[in-house]
This record gives sequence, C-alpha cells and structure tokens, in this order.
Amino acid sequence: MKKVIVLFSGGLDSTTMLYYARAKGFRPHCLMFDYGQRHRVELRYAAAIAQQAQCPYQVVALRLPWGGSALLDKEIKLPHRTIIDPTEIPVTYVPARNIIFLSLAASMAEAIDARAIFIGANAIDYSGYPDCRSEFFQAYQKTLDRGLKSGVQEKTIKIHAPFLHKTKAQIIRLGLKLQVPYERTWSCYQGARYARRPCGACDSCVLRARGFAQAGVVDPLLK
Ligand SMILES: [Zn+2]
Repeated sequence: MKKVIVLFSGGLDSTTMLYYARAKGFRPHCLMFDYGQRHRVELRYAAAIAQQAQCPYQVVALRLPWGGSALLDKEIKLPHRTIIDPTEIPVTYVPARNIIFLSLAASMAEAIDARAIFIGANAIDYSGYPDCRSEFFQAYQKTLDRGLKSGVQEKTIKIHAPFLHKTKAQIIRLGLKLQVPYERTWSCYQGARYARRPCGACDSCVLRARGFAQAGVVDPLLK
C-alpha cells in the first residue's frame, strides 16, 4: 500500500480526508501540530481518531511566538459572525500556517518515502484564508517540484486537496458513507471553557452547523 501523509487536526475536514485516503487504498500517516493553538482539545481528539483508524501519527510541536492570530493569542477576541464573507480574511488567519505545515509534511514525506500529502482544505465553505485556495496549492506544488530532491529527480511529492471545491455538506455526506466518527471530531476554535461542547458561535462552528443542516443530518457531536 502506498504511504501518504495526511495533515491532521481532528476536525471535520481532515478526519473525512483521513478516511477518504484510507478508502482509496493508501496507508495514511497523520501529521499533527501542536503550534500554540488556543487549546489542546483538538489534539486529544485527533490522537484518539488516528488510533481508532489504526493510522500512525506524529505530533510536531512548534511555536510561533510572534502570534498575529486570534488562534494563537487569547487577547484577540474570536469573531462571532453569522454571515461569513470569504473575501474578508478574518483575525483567525494564522500567518503562513499552511506554508509551514506543508513544508514540514513535505520533509516528512521525503524522509519516510511517502509520495503524496493529503490536505482537507476547502475553498467553498471556508473563512477566506488565502492558503486554502487553489492558486496557493498550484504555486506550492511548483515549490516542491523545484525544491525537493524527489522533485528534481521527477518523483515529485504531490499535494492532494480533493475537498477544495466541495461544499461542507458534500464533505459530510461523503464522510457518512465512509463511516467517519463525526461524534469524535472537534472543529471549534474554543477549547478550554467548552471542552465538552463546542461554542456554536465561532466561524468554524458556524460552518460546521451549516454543513450538517444542508446535508440534512444532525451533528452527532451535538446529540
Ligand atoms: Zn466554536
């Protein structure tokens, strides 16, 4: 079976991605980041899901001490928006996050001889982050093709973002078919105070709720 890296946060999109990669016959290795995010809840959820899915996982700890995002700095209030305008980049944007994550994923992929990186990025029901858009992934692929040993030897590591143009409801419907344990996924940007229940008001909760509503199913995490 072909080894691949799945960038994994324990959230709805990346968990569906993990099950999708497995269903496609790949052997996923989960790469998780403890990067100073507001809470560790998502890492606990992510580790439990990876174990349940019997996929090896690795947590890389790194610090971005300069902050610059509401997800890194608790002094910055999380926005509570009922309408999410993806042309506006919100304060939850983490400077260069996917560039950093993909670079580490590429390093791991090359080191363990994995041929692809799967990322559950979505550019339809999303917050407007520029590093979740298709132009970014195309440009970054060129960076890997030119900058990696495997890239210049024409055995390049491919970035796959198959959910890029899917709605959240489509991702959820696919996940339900793949028996993704959504009751064990955590999407909320809040953590500590709401460890047992998501806040329901942050962008991530709003997008998730809209996705389940459009898919016509109750979010099993809220049952
Ligand atoms: Zn929330």
